[in-house]
Formats: sequence, structure tokens, C-alpha cells
Amino acid sequence: MTHISVDGCLFCQIVAHQAPVNVIRETAWTVAFTDIAPVAPTHVLVVTKDHHNNLEALVGQDPGLLGTLMAEVTVVADDQGLGEDGYRVVINTGIDGGQTVEHVHAHIIGGRPMTWPPG
Ligand code: 5GP
Ligand code: ZN
Repeated sequence: MTHISVDGCLFCQIVAHQAPVNVIRETAWTVAFTDIAPVAPTHVLVVTKDHHNNLEALVGQDPGLLGTLMAEVTVVADDQGLGEDGYRVVINTGIDGGQTVEHVHAHIIGGRPMTWPPG
């Protein structure tokens, strides 16, 4: 199956298995892998295989895929043993959201109690 891909996008390279990452789970539509700079005992990124710049673009271009992405987040979180104690899901979007990689992705962060508000 071919996916929407952008040259030079790090996460498109990961989706294409052209960049080294620790893949945790892969489906037809998503890839989950360990974040290179974990902020908690468990820190997994779940990306759509199709390139969408951010949450706004994903919802604008393929809103159903957001449901697929978020459902996959729960499967991965449960696989990681986070289902009972809970976890945080973060989608940083845009400059003020702190997004650094312009390919939509959800962070699953867990394994310790989280604080609020975020920085
Ligand atoms: P953002 O800041 O866009 O919400 O999240 C981007 C995330 O990608 C960061 O948590 C960062 O640590 C992670 N990241 C950046 N480059 C790489 C990489 O090459 N490999 C992996 N596994 N994670 C990366
Ligand atoms: Zn991409």
C-alpha cells in the first residue's frame, strides 16, 4: 500500500523503515515507536503512515484517520501496561503547541504520575 509521503520528513522515513527506530507496533495506517528522548519511563510516538503536517491538516484532509490514530494509541498504551494506572496523550500542534516534527503524531507518556499544567 502506498502512503502520502514528503521527501525529507523524518517520520515519513521512519514509516518507510529508512530511519532506525525501535518499532513497537505497526498497522496498515500507523506506526508506534519509542521516542528518542523519553520524558517518562514509557514514551511512545504513534504516527499516521500518511503524511499530514499537524492535527489541523489531518482533520482537514482525512478526519476518519484521527479516530484510527487515537484508537491505536489505546491499544499501544494497553500493550505497554499503562491501561490500569493511566497515561497522558499529547498532540503538540504548531509553534505555540511546541510541535518540532511536522508530521502528525501522538505522544503516549506514562509510567509515572503526570503534573498539570504543562509547561
Ligand atoms: P513534537 O515536539 O513534534 O511534539 O515531538 C517530536 C518528538 O520526536 C520528540 O519527542 C522527539 O524526541 C522525537 N524525535 C525526534 N527525532 C527523533 C528520532 O530520530 N527518533 C525518534 N525515535 N524520536 C525522535
Ligand atoms: Zn512525514
